[in-house]
Amino acid sequence: MGNRREFLKRTLAAGLVVGSRALLASDRRRVFVAGFSHETNTFHPVRTASFGFAQVSRTPPVVWEDAGLTVIPGIHARPNGGGTIEEKPCREAMNRVLDSLRAAMPVDAVFLRLHGAMYAEGIGPAETVLVGEVRSLVGPKVPIACTFDLHGNIPACLAQFGDILVGLKTAPHTDGAQTADLAGRILLDTLAGKAHPVAYVLPIPMILQGEKAMTTAEPFRSLVEEARRIEREGVLGHESKILAATLFVGCAWTDSPDTGMSAMITADGSRGAARAAAVHLAHKIWEARHQFAFGCETAGLEEGVNRALAAKESTVFLTDSGDNVTASAPGDLPIVLRHLVERNVKSAVVAGINDAPAVNRCFEAGVGKSLALSIGATVETRFGPPLETEAQVVRLIENPRMAVVRIGEVEAILADGPMAFTDPRQFPPCGIDPLTRKIVVVKEGYLYAALTRIAPRYIMLLTPGAGDMRIESLTYTRRRKPLFPLDPSVSFDPEAAPAP
Ligand SMILES: [Zn+2]
Repeated sequence: MGNRREFLKRTLAAGLVVGSRALLASDRRRVFVAGFSHETNTFHPVRTASFGFAQVSRTPPVVWEDAGLTVIPGIHARPNGGGTIEEKPCREAMNRVLDSLRAAMPVDAVFLRLHGAMYAEGIGPAETVLVGEVRSLVGPKVPIACTFDLHGNIPACLAQFGDILVGLKTAPHTDGAQTADLAGRILLDTLAGKAHPVAYVLPIPMILQGEKAMTTAEPFRSLVEEARRIEREGVLGHESKILAATLFVGCAWTDSPDTGMSAMITADGSRGAARAAAVHLAHKIWEARHQFAFGCETAGLEEGVNRALAAKESTVFLTDSGDNVTASAPGDLPIVLRHLVERNVKSAVVAGINDAPAVNRCFEAGVGKSLALSIGATVETRFGPPLETEAQVVRLIENPRMAVVRIGEVEAILADGPMAFTDPRQFPPCGIDPLTRKIVVVKEGYLYAALTRIAPRYIMLLTPGAGDMRIESLTYTRRRKPLFPLDPSVSFDPEAAPAP
């Protein structure tokens, strides 16, 4: 009995017990949860040399409540920076995650929160490599579930390592919780012996800006509907259920051999069914390839500002898409701010320019003071100089550290790191109600869902930067060839996909 008590103590100490069902600790299934995620922008001017680590903080899938699981939180590692990741820190980060798994073993299942667009020198698709290493640690019988953003570049070999592969279905993203729940539910059914998940990944030779594949616009909306239909109804000629069907848009700003779209399927018991579903969806995407276009209003800088000023809407959001922080661009370009200042635009705010030195100078000066500031272009120096200007400090914010300054009639929110304003709740601490300004500039591509809900109108500005939407003009050195539409004459037969 001593052993049992010891085991119970150890289990409870190691993990967080989920669910209220009265189970002996030794009867509870032990699920290890960890994370490793990044959308690497290889066009970012600076390589990423370190990671941040946290014990997994996100709440477990809601469907695990009352499931009698012991959740063992591992490490969640995230790169500190947007650019290509150096090999050594990436290996070290992978080892930290793997060490947290080793410390948790034996486990009955593994649940990994991934993104899918991480790229490291000497390693390549690091998230997939990690899943492979997790597989070799836990052996062939322990189910591995992984969740993804749909902007991941997914190699076909991932399906050899992971059993339950589930990505987001919406862009802009609104289904993070549902995605975790779907993967969590399949994992529960697997542990109960009610499901036998197998996965298949089919890369499609096509590269696309995420802004051309939005679920708020065609053709992507209908394609994702088709994936949902397959989850409900299965695929012709196969009896196995399709447990999860994900269409990956890919990340066009990660120059890697895996960059591009893909179909990722988790089927119950039949890899043939998973392949058939992937082939079916790949066909649909390929047929629609000429229809993908930006799913939102777009304009060049000057034209976008003209339209915003002339708009009947009281507020127009402008996204500085070339410097899109949510696509891991540096977020420090002052191009749009300079344009607004030079035109002496009234009632405009530029939200989130990454410039730590400028923020420090504002803190030194204090609220109400005016000072000569050099704004932006501290990291990204390829697209013009900083804005040298006289500015007045309007407000200082401690956490996150930001300074609101006024330059003529234009306000700018300076931040001490890349800062995407994606949610209306980020504005009040800055003393700004965005809906009282005519123009609100944020460093995004498409406008995030929470802002789209309040924005009377938005225009995506086709501005330069590491997130430049005009991918035809980017210099790719690692991408596979051919890829549509960069190589327009490419042919593709999904049926030729490898047998499972
Ligand atoms: Zn995404």
